[in-house]
Amino acid sequence: MSNILEIKNVSHTYGLGTPFAKEALSQVNLNIEEGDFVGLVGHTGSGKSTLAQCLNGLIIPTEGDVVVEGVSLKESKNLKEIRKRVGMVFQYPEYQLFEETVARDIAFGPKNLGLSKEEVEARVDFAMDLVQLNRDLKDRSPFELSGGQKRRVAIAGILAMKPKVLILDEPTAGLDPHGRDEILGEIKSLYDQGGLTIIMVSHSMEEVARLTKRMIVMNHGKVAMDGTPRELFRQGDKLKDLSLTTPQVTKVMEELKKRGADVSTDAITIDEAYEELVRYLEGGHHA
Ligand code: ADP
Repeated sequence: MSNILEIKNVSHTYGLGTPFAKEALSQVNLNIEEGDFVGLVGHTGSGKSTLAQCLNGLIIPTEGDVVVEGVSLKESKNLKEIRKRVGMVFQYPEYQLFEETVARDIAFGPKNLGLSKEEVEARVDFAMDLVQLNRDLKDRSPFELSGGQKRRVAIAGILAMKPKVLILDEPTAGLDPHGRDEILGEIKSLYDQGGLTIIMVSHSMEEVARLTKRMIVMNHGKVAMDGTPRELFRQGDKLKDLSLTTPQVTKVMEELKKRGADVSTDAITIDEAYEELVRYLEGGHHA
């Protein structure tokens, strides 16, 4: 697999040279492979959003460089080339909806790319299908929709630009459990359809573990941990030091093991824990 994104020695200080200077990122080096699904986690203030914004040129880091499909942020005269490749869905993206209809809102980005009217229309349909929004909603006002639907319209607006990399900053923020499951399911199906590299920023390890293959944990502007969710959850103490926790089910399995049950503590989802318990109980053990 080739790297679609290279983050090379990136440091960023807000307000550099002022009395309010604040270093948000410090010498971050990461390669993201094409087609990967990466979770970027860490507690508030660890640098996740700053890093995410460096990836599409919204922030030009004070040091280092980001290379997207061979295009360097520092050398690129035209950030449009970067932004075409890397789509960014901000926190609470529905607050940025502003057009009178759903279709016009989704069309905004593709129109700005200078595409023909026909191509823009095709892109709107394509994006609505991707996020499973019924095309009947096209002429509705986005403000009449439910919270989850509004968020889908906002995500569709980014997908309509056909980015190679999609960055989602806290995509479930502020949603109730139902809306959260809806959006997470949506993101998973989007990824499963192929063709996208996804980076999802979240403060919830549990949420990220449900979807991603690789988890990067940020702490004080640095990469503190990097591996599969399972690899990271095996290091419960280290996570605790970073104010992060393992999923509830992993804790339950660890507790069972402590009490003498010979179960694997690798489960990170309820389904996995269930299977492991069935395996254990069918082996003739009694809980
Ligand atoms: P996270 O997304 O993990 O919560 P951020 O990237 O938002 O972290 O913030 C990293 C650090 O940079 C924090 O200490 C935060 O206070 C600071 N910071 C973020 N944005 C700004 C800004 N616009 N100006 C000054 N400091 C900022």
